[in-house]
Amino acid sequence: MNNSHSESVLVTQELASILSNNPAVTLNIEFTSKVYETISDYRSQFLKNWHINKKDAALDIFRAMDELIRTSKSFKKSVISCRRGCSFCCRILINISEIEATILADYCQENGIEISKNYLEEQMRLDEKAFLSSKVSRCIFLKDHECSVYAVRPLACRRYYVKSDPQLCNARKFLGNQQVQRVTSFEMEMLLSAVIPTISQGQSRMSEMLMPYAL
Ligand code: SF4
Repeated sequence: MNNSHSESVLVTQELASILSNNPAVTLNIEFTSKVYETISDYRSQFLKNWHINKKDAALDIFRAMDELIRTSKSFKKSVISCRRGCSFCCRILINISEIEATILADYCQENGIEISKNYLEEQMRLDEKAFLSSKVSRCIFLKDHECSVYAVRPLACRRYYVKSDPQLCNARKFLGNQQVQRVTSFEMEMLLSAVIPTISQGQSRMSEMLMPYAL
């Protein structure tokens, strides 16, 4: 991109892919400048909030993402195949950051949800391959096929929507399957480009990040 903003603004892989796969967009310098300008504006606003209160700033982004899922054209146009009770994506390793761990721990404390130290220790002992086929691959927060911390679920869970057959998300059978088709939204990726470098700071495996809060 030949504009001053593109040199300083990091974008998500998904946004880079949307931009590069659309020659009409890539060649439109005015439009791409606007995209980078918008991301910079989002980022400045977000950082102001972040420096006042990290938790509130992150929760504001979670709410903004929920709103975009309700209103963004891409999500409206796409036939999202994710359904309540489908939980294949809650049986893979995910990373969370310090602020996400804090938000989850606070929510658990407020809602009487136990974070089991034994369960996390079992998860931490496994590498990715062993984890997927283990009896502890289920996310610690998945109860009866539903997320018990849905309101404050981390970014990794919040941005994962597919339009392909949900069965293809079964990592035990189809790990690395290229047929899983994610739903991405231009608006969502602009927002995430602005906040991920900060919200995702210091991220590591969920089991490891939650351990300080486990009983
Ligand atoms: S936090 Fe919720 S949505 Fe995310 S993996 Fe765990 S159960 Fe699934």
